[in-house]
Amino acid sequence: MIDPQLHGEPGFEVRLPDTRMLIGGERYEAGAGKRIDIEDPATGKVFASVPAGTAEDVDKAVRRARTAFESHSWSRMRPLDRARIIEAIARKIEDNAGELALLESYDNGKTVHHAMAVDVPAAADIFRYMAGWASKIGGQVNPISGDGRQYHSYSVREPIGVVGQIVPWNYPLAMAAWKIAPALAAGCTIVLKPSEVTPLTALRLAELALEAGLPEGVLNVVTGYGHEAGQALVEHPGIDKIAFTGSTRVGKQIVQTAAKDLKRVTLELGGKSPSLIFADADLEKASIGAALAIFFNSGQVCLAASRLYVERSVYDRVVEGVAQAARSFKLGHGRDPDAMLGPLVSRAQQERVLDYIEQGRSSGAEIVTGGGVGGEGGYFVEPTIFSNPGPDSSIVREEIFGPVLVATPFDDVDEALAAANDTRYGLAANIWTRDLSRAHLTARRLQAGTVWINTHGMNDPSAPFGGVKESGWGREVGEEGVLHYTETKTVTALLAD
Ligand code: NAD
Repeated sequence: MIDPQLHGEPGFEVRLPDTRMLIGGERYEAGAGKRIDIEDPATGKVFASVPAGTAEDVDKAVRRARTAFESHSWSRMRPLDRARIIEAIARKIEDNAGELALLESYDNGKTVHHAMAVDVPAAADIFRYMAGWASKIGGQVNPISGDGRQYHSYSVREPIGVVGQIVPWNYPLAMAAWKIAPALAAGCTIVLKPSEVTPLTALRLAELALEAGLPEGVLNVVTGYGHEAGQALVEHPGIDKIAFTGSTRVGKQIVQTAAKDLKRVTLELGGKSPSLIFADADLEKASIGAALAIFFNSGQVCLAASRLYVERSVYDRVVEGVAQAARSFKLGHGRDPDAMLGPLVSRAQQERVLDYIEQGRSSGAEIVTGGGVGGEGGYFVEPTIFSNPGPDSSIVREEIFGPVLVATPFDDVDEALAAANDTRYGLAANIWTRDLSRAHLTARRLQAGTVWINTHGMNDPSAPFGGVKESGWGREVGEEGVLHYTETKTVTALLAD
């Protein structure tokens, strides 16, 4: 039981889920017997622990997932029946929304209202959307002989098999859901490894999936460190595909390891996304939009727009508007109903972000607001804005994954685009202008997997999401998301010589 008095707020009471690993419908401690402590980032107190799974546990989970796949209890189930179970998982998430949001807040630090408004609905939505795909993954007839009398040829999409899924700590429930739902729709079986920092909602989600009718062994959760359980999953010969969300550094390691047996790999990696604000934009909306685009979830968002480019004639006004919005965001622990931004996820992350802020200071960039440790106790960092950083400074080039924005003026659209595209990342971007032609022309010239116009961060399960350049391989969600969990088989029969 999480201590409801931890922050003196008696209304909040939540049961910890069973923290053991879930393999083949059964609960397991790690074979090696070790556990990982889980801290509440608002206080630094340990409130739970999970097993530190190793290669031995991964092997057990992969075998159970393989047995489930080959038993065909899931992959050969009538697609409409599979859809019904996937849809039932969406309802289970909604029925347990409060519990999941509170768990996410203790685990990750984010506010309960953020988890209720974003994380939990996003998780339910993807299951509901993917339920529809279960009955729509078809195939095609190939017109290889004129009138079809000589050959009959068709191609079908088959489930790729047993998939290993590895997710990060910033949206633990939603990222797990974005992985699990399309794989289930395609008929795959799964071994999921959540982040060692935030494993609790994934364990609870797997339990809810069983309650919703998912056959045992279809979804297995192994908790553990990346370099142990994660690495073992990527190396395991019984895994057909790895779907990874996390840092570009680890994504590259995964590609190298997976190359040994040419496992399929999809990657959702880091970002350093730009906001572009033109002088003709609704500047008030653009300033608030640019502030939310970076400070939402305390900047711990892959699609965070952490670089701001503003047309010079309105630069000072916009930067001051973004700073005002930043100063208005109250920092507080996740159960504080007035808090807008929670702490960062861990002491390590807080130290990392503060180190970048120090690098920014010593590079000569001017601090417009923030720069310090905010909040009381916990791993807080104030929303921070740097103006006029050097284009090659680390705060401009590297993903900080915290509430740090760098702002730079531009004189024309070509200069803005050159600066925006001058990055190894390409996950997302946003443009603020009232000029429709410029908005679309600029969108087409931005090197990014997603471009928002006069908004930021609007995601939907129907809209493919992913990155170009070093932000990833493949797309998640949407039709593309589910097809990445299939292989195409072509069958050709000679009917008549
Ligand atoms: P991370 O790369 O450190 O860890 C992600 C996951 O990989 C964790 O579960 C970790 O245990 C595991 N892992 C670590 N080393 C591994 C290894 N050698 N082999 C296999 N697994 C390993 O990332 P993080 O710090 O948890 O998350 C932050 C990063 O995730 C940021 O870079 C962010 O941009 C990215 N992210 C991307 C998206 C997206 O959709 N593009 C979404 C969310 C987060």
